[in-house]
Amino acid sequence: MSFVVTIDGPSAAGKSTTARAIAEQLGWRYLDTGAYYRALALKGMRLGMPAYDEAATRLARETRIEFSGDPSRAHVLLDGVDVTDAIRAPDVSEGASRIAAFPGVRRLLVEWQRILREREPLVGEGRDLGTVVFPDAEVKLYLDADPETRAKRRHAELTGRGLAVTLDAVRADMRARDERDRSRSDSPLKPATDATVLDTSGLDLARQVAAALALVRAHPSFPKGGDVPGRARA
Ligand code: C5P
Repeated sequence: MSFVVTIDGPSAAGKSTTARAIAEQLGWRYLDTGAYYRALALKGMRLGMPAYDEAATRLARETRIEFSGDPSRAHVLLDGVDVTDAIRAPDVSEGASRIAAFPGVRRLLVEWQRILREREPLVGEGRDLGTVVFPDAEVKLYLDADPETRAKRRHAELTGRGLAVTLDAVRADMRARDERDRSRSDSPLKPATDATVLDTSGLDLARQVAAALALVRAHPSFPKGGDVPGRARA
């Protein structure tokens, strides 16, 4: 099994930026597990799918989701169609956190995510990577930041993409989603007992990435010659 770095935490804690930067620096595969739940939710929303576990699990079984592991060009294909931008809409975030509460859905998506580890070292981000998907990961990080910092980050990201959303709406959506992720019975959001918890509220990105990379490189199983910057992959 390949070396795995897991990065979990609530929304807008800095997981994506950190995971991509580490994967890019090391030339490793990047895995955004939220993209799987988002893509499935998008399909369900487009089909007007009823919201219960069996229906969602059936839908997942009939769905193909592919995630390109290149951190600088991460693409998500839903049944062969590129949905990279479509899955970032706020209503899809909400739908993803609802569909992600269904155990049948999680079982399938976790299986798909685990297979990727067989190929090469990877840096994955999500909610349950250190606790459920890769419990034996070499390095586990849990990123968090205070709710106001996270709401401002997400608001800036959405308005930067041209979406007309207020900070109040973003704050409320985020609170509801985090609460749902933390309180679900299957794979709730929480740090693994052996995760290093990093509060990113006052950290700039460079320091955040440097701190994470130092932990990865210090691991005794870190592959020799593990830094392969700029390696491209499909
Ligand atoms: O990380 P992102 O915001 O894209 O995730 C969208 C939603 O997908 C989360 O709010 C969460 O409900 C779900 N998710 C999950 N487990 C993961 C990744 C995401 O339940 N590993």
